[in-house]
Amino acid sequence: MIYDRVALIGLGLIAGSMGLRMRQDGLAGEVVGYARSERTRAVAARRGLVDRTVDDAAAAVLDADLVVLCVPVGAMGAVAAAIAPHLKPGATVSDVGSVKRDVIVAVGPHVPDGVHFVPAHPIAGTEQSGPEAGFPELFDNRWCLLTPAADTEPDAIDRLTRLWQALGSTVDVMDPDHHDLVLAVTSHAPHLIAYTMVGVADDLRRVTDSEVIKYSAAGFRDFTRIAASDPVMWRDVFLNNKDATLEVLGRFTEELFALQRAIRTGDGDMLQDYFTRTRAIRRGIIEAGQDTPDADFGRHPRKVPS
Ligand code: NAP
Repeated sequence: MIYDRVALIGLGLIAGSMGLRMRQDGLAGEVVGYARSERTRAVAARRGLVDRTVDDAAAAVLDADLVVLCVPVGAMGAVAAAIAPHLKPGATVSDVGSVKRDVIVAVGPHVPDGVHFVPAHPIAGTEQSGPEAGFPELFDNRWCLLTPAADTEPDAIDRLTRLWQALGSTVDVMDPDHHDLVLAVTSHAPHLIAYTMVGVADDLRRVTDSEVIKYSAAGFRDFTRIAASDPVMWRDVFLNNKDATLEVLGRFTEELFALQRAIRTGDGDMLQDYFTRTRAIRRGIIEAGQDTPDADFGRHPRKVPS
């Protein structure tokens, strides 16, 4: 057992997966969960995501050794303000937000003296969301990045590291601004590009009489999977990782123009060299164990316990 009592604030995909794994492997004495809606609490109770659900965030954190904020990035500050007066001295507050700098700015000022703040981001997810979506293996072989301030108590960081390792992840510590730039490249910009491509196809659908859906090919289907991700979560990611995302999208636009020019001028060498380089990146991801070479990438029917 790593913590006596863990409180999960928000009970969607990430919290549900944490709760199921913590309960399955006995990582906490008790896991308490708070969600604002009655329906989410009922599903969480039915699926056994936590040991106990409560309808008040302040009540959830009472006596908790670890409190993990698992709500959209834009809601972190308000939630932190609500729980702050009720935190146990010596407890650790963490989060799972996909953006780190803005979460630190929003949550940090509410964390009382004597309570540790260790922000975290598990780089694991699916396009599914809500209390039905979680499963205990979500974090297996994934990275979890911690972005604590330099003066954070090492014991608090070590203990949270042990929890994430027990959840299946490999843990790294990173500067929050660096985290936000890296994630803008690997996650945030690709999501925006997928949203754009599906949006363009939707516009075209109106002139192609539904052929975009009917003859949807693998490339487009992969984009639609990503573009089906939770709208609120992703709205908050872009609003809160503005600078890094805009920087990456600027570079993306330049590359797109270069490829556009190569197509226009018939520069096959340029296109082939470019695609050879990108194919090597895919191989690198597979070699690093972050994906499999299966041809049906992204379309596995995943078993979700009822
Ligand atoms: P989710 O499945 O959509 O669940 C979100 C939870 O937050 C729900 O329980 C929801 O409550 C609650 N919530 C939403 N807005 C709220 C508000 N304004 N005040 C209080 N509670 C609120 O989300 P998720 O995918 O688990 O994501 C949670 C966090 O993890 C986000 O910060 C996200 O950036 C981060 N993250 C996500 C992924 C991913 O791929 N999904 C990966 C890594 C990190 P109700 O159900 O009661 O409405």
